[in-house]
Amino acid sequence: MATETPLSAIPAASRPRVVFVLGTGRSGSTILDLLLGAHPDIQGVGELCNVVRSGWIAGQYCSCGRRATECDFWQAVREVWREESAGADPRRYEYLLQAFEQRTMSALRLAWTRRASRLSLPLRAGVAFRDYAEQTAALYRAIAAVSGRSIVVDSSKNPARALALLHLERDFGSIDLRIVHLVRDVRGFAWSNRKSFRKDEAKGLQTDWAGLPVWKSALVWVYVNLWSDYVRARHDRRRKLFLRYEDLVSRPEASLASLADVSSVDPAPWLELLKTERPLRPGHMVAGNRVRMEREISLRPDVEWKTRLSPAEKRVCWMLAGWKAALYDYSVQAGQDRTTNDAKPQRTGTSGKIGSHPIPRPHFATPSTTAADTSASPSHAWQSNG
Ligand SMILES: [Zn+2]
Repeated sequence: MATETPLSAIPAASRPRVVFVLGTGRSGSTILDLLLGAHPDIQGVGELCNVVRSGWIAGQYCSCGRRATECDFWQAVREVWREESAGADPRRYEYLLQAFEQRTMSALRLAWTRRASRLSLPLRAGVAFRDYAEQTAALYRAIAAVSGRSIVVDSSKNPARALALLHLERDFGSIDLRIVHLVRDVRGFAWSNRKSFRKDEAKGLQTDWAGLPVWKSALVWVYVNLWSDYVRARHDRRRKLFLRYEDLVSRPEASLASLADVSSVDPAPWLELLKTERPLRPGHMVAGNRVRMEREISLRPDVEWKTRLSPAEKRVCWMLAGWKAALYDYSVQAGQDRTTNDAKPQRTGTSGKIGSHPIPRPHFATPSTTAADTSASPSHAWQSNG
């Protein structure tokens, strides 16, 4: 990340640009966040919706190796945020986040209302959207100020949060919102959810994870993507992007050109990074995929699911979610192909046109998609839990 600016020299950028990564978890959003954050104008912070609870309140580990309560970056952000939001309290703010981002009723009200600035939740006296909006915008401004970068990548993914941010932009004009809807093959998502893990805080695993049955993952995938489609449809055509994980890892140059379009930045620093094959280094991410705790991460597709999911599990996924996956250009045959990449002609460009950015492929390690490759060093592959 960029050299951190001393607090005294921080300019208060009034309207930070926010690139919001939308969709399900375990779809490669942590890697996308790291990749975007490798740009000198962009600061990636992972799942910002969890920073207050997991970082400031619970003191979980930041990707820099320190607990968030001891990390210089997050401490500086917290200080600037308190100044910007007239001494707001993290616990009170977390309460507002939960009220507007985690409840289905709130999401439905946000979906129906024209002016959220007047919205308060009737069952929760004093919980007003205005407070939530002001403190959320202040948090983005604080991150931009402390990092010295004008663009913040928030890979919270939660469609309800994206909906709240749409209102925040429309009613208050306090952020400039760009939306990237990231989708991964439902079978890759299901496999990633099916694996079980043991708790290891220092490695970014906060609790034991028993794994989720594939049928449940398939239904979650459909539900979250339907919501994401709805939110994306409500945003300006030129400031949103639909992106498939498989296209990002198999044709990173074209995907980065589209990401540069939607973020209004020059793609040159990213293309330079691909040429030099420099590994990605996590900056300060508090919540998200455990891959953020790795020191160096290289770009490699994770297609373990092709060999690890049983034919019956693949059939269940396709039976429940195939109709939706087909709309995103996934094919049932990709599940039978164990050696080649399943990427189809790429949807790029903010309008979702096919292949609108022909860019010569720079010298870059060709992504191999064999199972042997991904299992050789699973901790450094593009694992996609976040
Ligand atoms: Zn840190």
